[in-house]
Amino acid sequence: MTDALFDTHAHLGDPQFAADRAETLERALAAGVARIIEIADSPEEWEAAVALSRARPALTRCALGLHPYYADHFSDELLERLKRKILLPEVVAVGEIGLDYVKASVGREQQRAAFERLLSFCRDYEKPAVIHCRGAYDDLREILARVYNERTPKRRFLGVIHCFSGNASDALFCRDLGFALGVDGPVTYPRNDALREALKGAGVGCLVLETDSPYLPPQSCRGQRNEPSKLPEIATRLALACGVGLDELAARTTRNALELFGL
Ligand SMILES: [Zn+2]
Ligand SMILES: [Zn+2]
Repeated sequence: MTDALFDTHAHLGDPQFAADRAETLERALAAGVARIIEIADSPEEWEAAVALSRARPALTRCALGLHPYYADHFSDELLERLKRKILLPEVVAVGEIGLDYVKASVGREQQRAAFERLLSFCRDYEKPAVIHCRGAYDDLREILARVYNERTPKRRFLGVIHCFSGNASDALFCRDLGFALGVDGPVTYPRNDALREALKGAGVGCLVLETDSPYLPPQSCRGQRNEPSKLPEIATRLALACGVGLDELAARTTRNALELFGL
């Protein structure tokens, strides 16, 4: 039997799940997804993410962060609030945080400043970072190297580059620094051979699965709402790309995710 899958990145607090959040969780379980990390993008979402995790402790934990879309909301006060929140048993990571040079309206300088402060916070408090990076891999590499410079990690993973979309060199760089790579819907898209090659090059030892629900639906349901029950399609395509069986891929990505989040 295939090992249970682990969806390391979902936004079930999104209004698109308002009408069927409980059913969505049941469908995930029925599809073989045994764990989900709920991601809160801004302080306005933190409470709901903690509540969801508290209601379903066997199934969900959460990460609290500040998406680069909202980097202009960064403040010392936000860091103080985060410092208190990460003591809660439901909160296993900080994120998502990062850089988005494609869609964010906040300027790059401001994004970099907020990201570096938040990443330093993860380092100092030894919390895994869930990192969003779109069109900004050069700056990401520079900031990761600077913040984690010469630190000997106590854990196998310092965090995850969620929805990894860099090239083969970026994949090796992030892996070698101690980051897992998050794989989601785009790995199933026919034209993404370069992405599949980059992931295969990095190896299953650093990969984790995610859906980023309700975003990034896999190929079979493009244009529709995504949800964690779609994770097997992503796992199946990734296993094929990496040349391993689905059972092995499921076992290894789940083990990576458990280590990443300290579960
Ligand atoms: Zn993201
Ligand atoms: Zn996300």
